[in-house]
Amino acid sequence: MDISGSSASYLIKLLEEKSDVLITTHYNPDGDAIGSSLALYHFLNSQGIKSKVLIPNELPSFLQWLPGVNEALIYAENPSVANDLLATADLIFCLDYNGLDRVKLFTDQLRAANATRVLIDHHIQPENEFDLIFSDVSFSSTSELLYQIVFEAGLISSLTREMAECFFVGIMTDTGSFSFACNRPETFEIAANLIKTGLDVEKVHRLVYDTYSESRMRLLGHCLGANMKVIPEHATAYIWLTKEDLENYDYQQGDTEGVVNYALSIENVALAALFTERDDRVRVSLRSKGDFSVNEFARAHFNGGGHRNAAGGDIFKTMPETLALFEALLPSYSADINKSLAKYK
Ligand code: 5GP
Ligand code: MN
Repeated sequence: MDISGSSASYLIKLLEEKSDVLITTHYNPDGDAIGSSLALYHFLNSQGIKSKVLIPNELPSFLQWLPGVNEALIYAENPSVANDLLATADLIFCLDYNGLDRVKLFTDQLRAANATRVLIDHHIQPENEFDLIFSDVSFSSTSELLYQIVFEAGLISSLTREMAECFFVGIMTDTGSFSFACNRPETFEIAANLIKTGLDVEKVHRLVYDTYSESRMRLLGHCLGANMKVIPEHATAYIWLTKEDLENYDYQQGDTEGVVNYALSIENVALAALFTERDDRVRVSLRSKGDFSVNEFARAHFNGGGHRNAAGGDIFKTMPETLALFEALLPSYSADINKSLAKYK
């Protein structure tokens, strides 16, 4: 993708022409979704451009300290105000998602909007529903890509500490605290520039990762104890959570964030899954090591997608049916998963 100065300058020119700017991100927003959206909000503010951040649904408590969160609008809490914003906006940023259906709650309104839609994202295969596309899978995160765009536009000198905290949270969470998807040296150079604003790395890390409620920690224990199955011959491990489990552990939005990664941390596991029961579906979260593409696996079987090594989706079956389907699929993927593991080692 071209993130040259010219496309960044084109974006800045667009911003000069437009007056109603809306920043949107995906359903069940994660650290990169919220981090990049708020970083853009602060950046626009620094340029004298007012904007509004629209988040589809509630955000996890470990992101609620981020500067600017309180000025964001949550669609599920106020759909009529949000619909008005969508209808009147003339420029809509789409951050950290690659297709309009990823906002889930306001896809139709987004599709119908008269605004110019600008995509900034690092997922593969962006859909052709945007007027201007900044999409590059080689970036760790949308936050890093946005930083680069601001840099190319020659405006990175406007970086403030609050902006830096938002960028940093996006990069930190999408790389598992700089442990994956961060082989580009630039990722660390950007992190260094963010730290130069006075950002306190330890504090930011603590606010995101060391704020478990007791029930969240015990839910994790339940996931890793009673509710995890390891299938060594397919180099696979999976965890499931029923609605009853979620109730028993007083589930709050975001409480299962990161759980699937524990299953992947097992030495000889190259495919990990987390199945979470919802009212009408089972939510699926997938992770892999090496070449095995959970993006393709999620697209083929779980109405989803994502990245090669991290993807998600939904399936409209019961939990027992879902687990049976997953196990039935494994033999036909077993050779690929095992090959992926062997190469990864
Ligand atoms: P998670 O397992 O953390 O929910 O999602 C992992 C990755 O897959 C994220 O990068 C996310 O953007 C992507 N993803 C999750 N759910 C979906 C989905 O339903 N559709 C698509 N296309 N991508 C998803
Ligand atoms: Mn992301």
